[in-house]
Amino acid sequence: MPKLIHFRDTCIGCNGCVEAAPQYWEMNDADGKADMQLSKKKGNVHQREIMDIEIDCNRCAALACPMNIIKIYGDNGKDITND
Ligand code: SF4
Repeated sequence: MPKLIHFRDTCIGCNGCVEAAPQYWEMNDADGKADMQLSKKKGNVHQREIMDIEIDCNRCAALACPMNIIKIYGDNGKDITND
């Protein structure tokens, strides 16, 4: 399954991803950064698997991110965020 990736450390808390895809993204009141819902932390990134039909709205979240820290990787590990 495709993976949705968030390099959360450099999030500036602009809320763009939440506005674009609120069913996947939410703001964290504790530190003012965005959280990917249902994600797990792996190394320095947060990630979760998504279905193919969930790619488009998360591409919108990625496009809305001024820090370019939201990525989508395909089954083969290739970055498909901008495909
Ligand atoms: S759009 Fe990017 S920088 Fe803005 S809150 Fe979401 S992840 Fe953070």
